[in-house]
Amino acid sequence: MGNGQGKRVVIIGGGIVGASLAYHMGGKGANVTLLEAEGIASGVTGSSFAWINTSHPEPDPIAQLRGSAIKDYRRLETLLPSLKIRWTGALCYSVMSSVALPVPGNQASTNLVSRLQILDLEPNLKNPPQSASYATEEGALDAVAATNALIAGAEAYGAKILTQTRVLGFVTQSAKVIGVETTMGIIDTDLVVLAAGTGITKLTEMLGVSLPIKASPAIFIRYKSQPNLVHTLISTPEMEVRQSSDGALMAAEDYLDDAMENQPAAIALRTAKTIQNELHGVVSIDPERACVGLRPMPADGIPIIGYLPKVSGVYVCAMHPGVTLAAIVGRLASEELLDDKVSSALFPCRPDRFFQA
Ligand SMILES: Cc1cc2nc3c(=O)[nH]c(=O)nc-3n(C[C@H](O)[C@H](O)[C@H](O)COP(=O)(O)OP(=O)(O)OC[C@H]3O[C@@H](n4cnc5c(N)ncnc54)[C@H](O)[C@@H]3O)c2cc1C
Repeated sequence: MGNGQGKRVVIIGGGIVGASLAYHMGGKGANVTLLEAEGIASGVTGSSFAWINTSHPEPDPIAQLRGSAIKDYRRLETLLPSLKIRWTGALCYSVMSSVALPVPGNQASTNLVSRLQILDLEPNLKNPPQSASYATEEGALDAVAATNALIAGAEAYGAKILTQTRVLGFVTQSAKVIGVETTMGIIDTDLVVLAAGTGITKLTEMLGVSLPIKASPAIFIRYKSQPNLVHTLISTPEMEVRQSSDGALMAAEDYLDDAMENQPAAIALRTAKTIQNELHGVVSIDPERACVGLRPMPADGIPIIGYLPKVSGVYVCAMHPGVTLAAIVGRLASEELLDDKVSSALFPCRPDRFFQA
């Protein structure tokens, strides 16, 4: 138990970010209530490719945060046995130019691998490039299962999880939030944490604060296929694909527009063809699910993490890539909120940057 003992905290949002916050704050002894408008992981977390992707070209304002993201998932794995992560590594290259994409600046664990090494990692590749970047320590998870594992961990610490409970407004006193108005009534609180993904803008507007967070669409596809086609996670401009332990093939694609030919189902069929063109032995590849997910994307691309200006008692956690950062942000934010331990890794993420004259 930590310094949070008895402090009443309301977390809004039951995606992977809210679940991680609930777990970490519950572990510090806070009296946590998590409010979710629909079901757990019903937001964008439920349609995430869920690559723990810490690679980023320089300059990277959140290099410190990204650089520790894997270590924090490794820590959570030991604490939560039901949290399963496939640490397969990630292979990145450009098929068109047949060369590796630039080796990211902030990752010591990214190696340049040769064609022979690529084939060793991915024997089914039809057209392996001359070289590729291989991020050996990266992995991926099932974001819904991981969120549920964190929620179960939070509940074990005594957190109350209220699904089908939408936040409608806030109760304030002398510019401090002291309660949350929900479809189930008012909940008194000492602190509110906004982890409501693309729903955050609406919530901050209720408090008279406008945050520039866009709903950025991307397409998630899950195919039924045969196992052992893809061993790592392959990322090229043509396809981003990985395979889960139950054999399902997962792909992420850019959202183009809402034309008929660019609907998720049509993109799933096109992507299946690309995968068949790129891999030997794809006997069956049947789309099981294809959907658009809306990522909470801050206007400058940098997470928004910290106390909201103009009103006290409200802390925001809006970010992309949210799966990658959920574990570390859960820990660092809970330390800030409950132990008064300010994290330098979070300095570039402060909401105040949007309100400076
Ligand atoms: C196709 C695709 C691929 C992706 N790939 C990756 C990847 O490889 N790696 C990575 O790190 N990220 C990836 N992402 C992004 C990642 O999924 C998100 O950053 C992450 O899931 C965000 O989690 P969250 O908890 O902040 O938001 P959400 O999962 O959206 O959770 C917010 C929750 O808040 C609830 N809510 C909203 N308003 C209210 C309200 N008023 N009251 C109560 N509850 C409310 C919503 O119902 C929702 O469940 C991908 C996304 C997509 C779509």
